[in-house]
Amino acid sequence: MFKKAFSSFFSKKTQLTIPREIVNADKTLSDFLKEEIAASSYIKPDYRQLVHDAIIKREYLKSGPALSADEKREMGLNTRYKFFKPQTEVLTEEGLKVGPNEAFSIIEIRAQHRHSNIQNQISMLESGVVTQLEVASPSGDRDCTWCKQQDGKKYPLNVDIDKLIQDNCTCVYCRLGLLAVVNDNNA
Ligand SMILES: [Zn+2]
Repeated sequence: MFKKAFSSFFSKKTQLTIPREIVNADKTLSDFLKEEIAASSYIKPDYRQLVHDAIIKREYLKSGPALSADEKREMGLNTRYKFFKPQTEVLTEEGLKVGPNEAFSIIEIRAQHRHSNIQNQISMLESGVVTQLEVASPSGDRDCTWCKQQDGKKYPLNVDIDKLIQDNCTCVYCRLGLLAVVNDNNA
């Protein structure tokens, strides 16, 4: 009898309800990639799916005919690096300005950061002991004013941190970290 009651008590406790406020809780890395590619000014709209698949497969369109030195010069690309035609075909003029490696990498890092923030927040909720989340900013030259102002700020665990960052951060890619606050009594 006791055993049964104990196990049902436990199974209830591990059933986690994600707060409704966290709207992107179910999204995968692929979902975030799709969003970031669509929002990016680097990728031509017709090639969004192709770029998504190339990043997921981590091959970044690095195959097919390579660009000649003249072609690289014409596109304003660094002639010391090897680039492939499919990499440059998917890029807008703005994308070419940053170059294929940087353009793909920025999109990938942005998607990974959003996905890992959500996963991090869900782990905090699952723990049952974390009471708040604290934001940490590296506060370097690359970080926007809003990000710098966020350093040390604490939020309730049901905050939609992804939306908050999306609405406010103007970094090329956000570098905010999320820390778990376990006991805030002494803060
Ligand atoms: Zn920022």
